[in-house]
Amino acid sequence: MWVNSQQFHKNKMHLIKLFPLSFVLLFLFASSYKIQAQNKSFTVVIDPGHGGKDTGTEGTKRYKDKNEKDIVLAVALKVEKLMQTEMPNTKVILTRKKDVFIELKKRGEIANKANADLFISIHANAANYKAKGSETYVLGVHRNKTNLAVAKRENDVILLEEDYEKHYSYNPHSPASIISLTLMQEDYLDQSIRMATIVEKSFVETGKRSSRGVKQAGFVVLHQTYMPSILIEIGFLSNNKEEDFLRKKNGQEKIAASIVSGIKKYKKELDKNSITNDIITKENSIFKGVAFKVQIASSSNKVTTKSYNFKGLRNIERVKVGKHYKYYLGNTSDYNLIKDLQEQAVSKGYKSAFIVAFKGQERISVSKLLKSTSQ
Ligand SMILES: [Zn+2]
Repeated sequence: MWVNSQQFHKNKMHLIKLFPLSFVLLFLFASSYKIQAQNKSFTVVIDPGHGGKDTGTEGTKRYKDKNEKDIVLAVALKVEKLMQTEMPNTKVILTRKKDVFIELKKRGEIANKANADLFISIHANAANYKAKGSETYVLGVHRNKTNLAVAKRENDVILLEEDYEKHYSYNPHSPASIISLTLMQEDYLDQSIRMATIVEKSFVETGKRSSRGVKQAGFVVLHQTYMPSILIEIGFLSNNKEEDFLRKKNGQEKIAASIVSGIKKYKKELDKNSITNDIITKENSIFKGVAFKVQIASSSNKVTTKSYNFKGLRNIERVKVGKHYKYYLGNTSDYNLIKDLQEQAVSKGYKSAFIVAFKGQERISVSKLLKSTSQ
């Protein structure tokens, strides 16, 4: 959804060597540089949590040989393998394939560089010996102590990283600092929640497991990505029965199959362009005081909003948000009209174009808005 900025810089560096022609060329290049549509194949980044010196939870401690880092890696590798047969046209990238330590920000970088469509971080949970089941998180403000505890445990790994203070706005000693994290995933919240919901359902239907549902909390790793992102806690290693299940090949295969079936379903919905529900009829499609727009791209590059830069789409609006530029199509309070514009954008190749809604300056949730009228 964003321009490949690395390539852009590479080209730029190359041009600068050709000084003094460089300025002319650079100008021409920059002005004709198009926001690329996402007509690449679907890309999923699977992120096995922890690794190396960061073991993750040790579980019940009945076993010495495997910790969270080993179990989630085994599951991730099974997901990758299964994806090759189940979804051969989907590109799968693992943030680690071995038992190595990777910083949280590096995991996000891998996903961002790959222009991934989906980021899935896989972890295993720990609490009291009775707690059981899976839960899937999207980035948000934790509303209760339990969610906070899970996020804190998964975030504490940054204490093992060098100079973490320089690299993160999150302070592990002050849980309140998590609020500053929520902003970056805002764009993808609806899609992330949808994916999380599908995966949790899949654990029950495909994996015959119990689900603790979809939750929100401040996970640093989810803060690093520019795409729909979720963090799955596949089960509790602090529970004897669950630990035994998750250590076994068969258990790991069940978990992997549930995740893959979830990805498949999510992709299907994306293809049908039906991530936001279609309960809106002609009669109630106008939302007074709400401005719907289609976000077609987000980029660190400032691109002139001419139709030739956007595959012929007209009336593109560019808005600077932090260090990034967001590119919107349309501005209407008519939901049906914006759906049409979204379809138009998708047909031009902006496959991940999605609808956003504003009330005044404030971004509001489209799915909540639609739900509020359907009841
Ligand atoms: Zn973990």
